[in-house]
Amino acid sequence: MDYNATAPVRPEAAAAMIEALRTPGNASSPHAPGRRASAVVQLGRSRLAELLGCAPSELVFTSGATEANNLALRIAAPDAGQIVVSAVEHPAVLEAARQVASDQQCELSIIGVDRDGKLRVDELRLALSSPRRALVSIMAANNETGVLNDLKEIAELTHAAGGLLHSDATQFVGRLPLDVSTVEVDLLSLSAHKFGGPQGVGALFIRRGLPIRHRPLVRGGGQERGWRAGTLNVAGISGMGAAAAAARAQIDVESVRIGQLRDRLEAMVLAALPDTQINGYVAPRLPGVSSMTFPGAPADAVLAGMPNVAASDGSACSSGALSPSHVLLAMGRTAEQADSTIRFSLGYATTEAEIDFAAEQVVSTVRRVREAMCVS
Ligand code: PMP
Repeated sequence: MDYNATAPVRPEAAAAMIEALRTPGNASSPHAPGRRASAVVQLGRSRLAELLGCAPSELVFTSGATEANNLALRIAAPDAGQIVVSAVEHPAVLEAARQVASDQQCELSIIGVDRDGKLRVDELRLALSSPRRALVSIMAANNETGVLNDLKEIAELTHAAGGLLHSDATQFVGRLPLDVSTVEVDLLSLSAHKFGGPQGVGALFIRRGLPIRHRPLVRGGGQERGWRAGTLNVAGISGMGAAAAAARAQIDVESVRIGQLRDRLEAMVLAALPDTQINGYVAPRLPGVSSMTFPGAPADAVLAGMPNVAASDGSACSSGALSPSHVLLAMGRTAEQADSTIRFSLGYATTEAEIDFAAEQVVSTVRRVREAMCVS
């Protein structure tokens, strides 16, 4: 129940990767193995492009969404302009934005969210009224709560002010339909391992014709039209493409089924533990995500008490860190509430039996932890 940390590799992706590994080649080489590898990369690129509704040539392969976010901010932030991010972005945006703002002498504006995790659009409007040219970076779906942002509206506001919009869509791609020909985002980051591809490969969509600087993070042999040097990860790209094709074929059915499972989990937990707070409950959310706060039951104790349920306290990247979730604090929760919060995230292979098992485990473990807290 931790698909937002990573999803199991889809069988189609594993098969494509094994096939690519059996017939090795460098996609830049002119001989037969190289041409074969290049054809495998082309297929991966066009499958991913189909999932997003873009042209294959608008994709740059990266090592994942962290690199894609760093690259996007670096190339699209205007010198001496403004970078606008939300307070609940992943650290791969927040930290990169801080660095680029200091390197390129940009002002950094951080837009808040309300108690439901919804972006304060009035604050965004205010930031965009500055005469500085803006790069706005707002995620499509939050990794901790699943809360969605209205990228169409944000793109319209940003473009009306003459800015560019980047979106970290890592948790959205492959889970809900997305078409960059209607949602006019300029740059978009994604990662294969969130939708059933392998870890360590992702992409940045860069809309053709954008007024951006050629300022790659990784320089070298000029692969990816100079945007990202280095021998292409043929097997990874092939696996990502196969996962994209499988996700695209099933997205409508999967998203409904997963939403029903998430609702079942929430209903079962709320029925037994009615003081549970579900973060972002009334906001539009990804179908597979539920962020639950159990007052008086620290998340680390609950997770330790149910070793057969793989869920997460906060996000996988920051769990283990001592500070409470910046996402929940930005939503007005206290540190204690944040520390009593568990994120469940479901995906394409989650079953109803798993949901029933998890619900029963959560309820009995939270009760046990609360009793132990009262006694001690
Ligand atoms: N952005 C978001 C919203 C994420 O959830 C993650 C993964 N936790 C990342 C970026 C980083 O992705 P990757 O693992 O591909 O670097």
